[in-house]
Amino acid sequence: MRELVREVGQQLDLNLEVRVLNSGIVLPHDVEAQKKHGAKEQSYGRSEQKRPAAAAWTGTEGREGTTNGAWPAGTTAPLFGPSCEALYREQIGEITEAYPGTKVWVQPDGLWLLSESLLVPMPARRVVFLTGIPFSPVRFPRSWGFWVGPPLTAPKWIGPRHTNFPDGSVCAFDHSDGTWRLGKPIVDLLDLYTVWAFRHLHLQVFGRWPGRQVAHHPYERLTELSGDEYCGCDNSDKLYGECCRDKDNTLNAFEVFVSFYVEMGGVRRPPPVVTEFIQNPTNPPPLADLLPSVFGFLKAPRFSAAPILLPFMNHSLRKGGCRSQLK
Ligand SMILES: [Zn+2]
Repeated sequence: MRELVREVGQQLDLNLEVRVLNSGIVLPHDVEAQKKHGAKEQSYGRSEQKRPAAAAWTGTEGREGTTNGAWPAGTTAPLFGPSCEALYREQIGEITEAYPGTKVWVQPDGLWLLSESLLVPMPARRVVFLTGIPFSPVRFPRSWGFWVGPPLTAPKWIGPRHTNFPDGSVCAFDHSDGTWRLGKPIVDLLDLYTVWAFRHLHLQVFGRWPGRQVAHHPYERLTELSGDEYCGCDNSDKLYGECCRDKDNTLNAFEVFVSFYVEMGGVRRPPPVVTEFIQNPTNPPPLADLLPSVFGFLKAPRFSAAPILLPFMNHSLRKGGCRSQLK
C-alpha cells in the first residue's frame, strides 16, 4: 500500500492525471503501474467509454464554493438556469455502479449521497462521503469526508486541511476553474473527492501533501505546510521551502494569527447534524440547511464560533468559502 500511495503522490506532484476505478480505488495513470498493483484486473474496473482517463484533477486544489463568476459562459449550468433534478435522478444507477453500496436520499431540493471510497485495494480504513447535490444552480454542492474502520471505531472527520470554512466540507477544487459544475456527472465529482481523500492518505503516510495547493494566507502556510510541499501562493509551482517560507518566517506571528482569525473566523468542523448522521445514517437533514446559497451564504452563521466576526465571514465566503484561498 505504501508504494502505491507514493507512486500516485508522485504523479500528483507532476500534475498528471491519476485513475479512479470503481469503489474509489486510486491508481497511477499508466497501465504498467496499474498492472503492478493489480487492481485493474480485479473487480474495480470501470467502463472506459463512460469514464475516460480518470480523476480529472487540475491541480488547482484548495478552493471551493466561489460565488463570484462561478458559472462562466459556456458552462453546463447557468446561474439561474433550469433545475438539474431530472438529469441527476437519471444518474443514480451510474453512481451506484461506480460507487457500489451508495445510499441515495431524494429531497425536494436535491440528493443526499452516502458513498464509500476504498482509496487503495484492501484498505485498513475506508472513506465515507456525505455529499449533497442541489437541483438548483443557486446552491453549491457540499461533501464531508470521514475515515471509517476498523469496526467499532467511531467515524473520524477528514480535515481540517483543504476543507471549506467554516463547515469543514471537502475543498477539492475551485468551482470557478470549471473542474466541475452543476450539470456535470456526479460520478466525476465523487472521483474528485476521492482523489482529495487520497491526498489526505498520502499526508498521513508520508507527512506531506502531494501536488499543487492553494494557501494564500501566511498563517496557514506556516502552520500546515512543510518545506517540501508545493507552496500555496500564486507561485505554486515552487516548493514552499524555496518560495514563501523565509518571507513568512519574518512576519510577526501574533499579527499573522490575528489577521487570519479576523479574516476567517474560528475553527472548521462539520455541522453537528452531519456528524450525527454519519454515525446513524437513517434520516438526513434538510439539504437546504447545509448547502450554501449564492445569495450571500445566509446559512453560514449557524456554524460560526464567533458571531461578532460575521461581517468578515460573509465577505470571506463571498470570495470563496474555503479559507485556503483567501488573501
Ligand atoms: Zn510561495
